Amino acid sequence: MEPKFQTWGVRKLTVVDGGHVSMPDVLKQSLYVDDDCGVPRATAIVPHLKERCPAVDVEAIQMEIPAPGNPVSPSVLDDCERLQTLVASSDVVFLLTDTWESRWFPTLLCANENKMAITAALGHDSYLVMRHGAGPGTRSGNMDDVIAQIQNLSTEDALGRQRLGCCFCNDTASLFNSISDETVALPGLTSIVSGKAVELFARMLHHPEGIHAPGDMAGMDTEHQLGLLPHQMRGSLPRCDLSTVISNSSNDCTACSNIVLSEYRREGLNFVMQAINQPTYLKDLTGISNLIKSDTCLKLPASFPVNSGKLSSARCLLLGAGTLGCDVARILMVSFMVRATFMLNYRHRLTEHLVNHGGY
Ligand SMILES: [Zn+2]
Repeated sequence: MEPKFQTWGVRKLTVVDGGHVSMPDVLKQSLYVDDDCGVPRATAIVPHLKERCPAVDVEAIQMEIPAPGNPVSPSVLDDCERLQTLVASSDVVFLLTDTWESRWFPTLLCANENKMAITAALGHDSYLVMRHGAGPGTRSGNMDDVIAQIQNLSTEDALGRQRLGCCFCNDTASLFNSISDETVALPGLTSIVSGKAVELFARMLHHPEGIHAPGDMAGMDTEHQLGLLPHQMRGSLPRCDLSTVISNSSNDCTACSNIVLSEYRREGLNFVMQAINQPTYLKDLTGISNLIKSDTCLKLPASFPVNSGKLSSARCLLLGAGTLGCDVARILMVSFMVRATFMLNYRHRLTEHLVNHGGY
């Protein structure tokens, strides 16, 4: 039997990273090789992506992502403005950076711009993959006046639903706290998480309500082609479990609450600079985020009928070209094998097909 392939086929990638490839990166990260050591990740990743898929349209930008509490570099204002432009011109943003704080400003921008955002986070043996809810809607439409928009920001989204939370609405920072320089994620965890992040994006892209889709829970019936669209997936390798979780946006979230977005719309980058320079500014403004609970297992569908046109035209902004960034970029653009029957006489043809189509 001929192998059958299916492809996500994403062709428009922008990768942002401020780091350099180190020897541990070569061992841990799926794209880099020994010769890349010392080279900026944003430079090194491009030829490896094009080797796997010559048709990919990839732009890589070497830039630190401005973050609260980090030492302010002379270029921080330029970096903020550049990130604003990048998020505004993208269809989806993947938050894959090594630090929690560096995800704050992109999360705020996505909520403000109502952009799809996917967070992937690794612990030593556990993980989280989630999609951020839509940005706050306004109580009446077509308001051009910025002040009117600020005063009418709603806790609901544009469809009048309670907004789903972002990664700063709950306790996901605890995953980062469990990692130190001496500990690393279990082998295989990165590929699991990266694959689920891309799946979640593809399902949201194909869902008729897109970013406004309510969160599905494990075991629900669904009529959607690609299956359930959870808000959050949390897994643990030692416990062999995968849970779906829903959490609504928090009124005191430091990244997506009305009070934060109102300040951002009113003060622009002055607000962002205060948040970066004053460690307690955001907490003073909002209070502390809420915690969430977990639920039962998610059953994944066996096959994914996809709209290749939607996927190939989606503009994906990947923040981070490290362990997660390499895997997410690779999985986004390259084919994967849905079904293959290995028979001795067909083994050679199968190998040729895998090579020709970039499958694995
Ligand atoms: Zn939030």
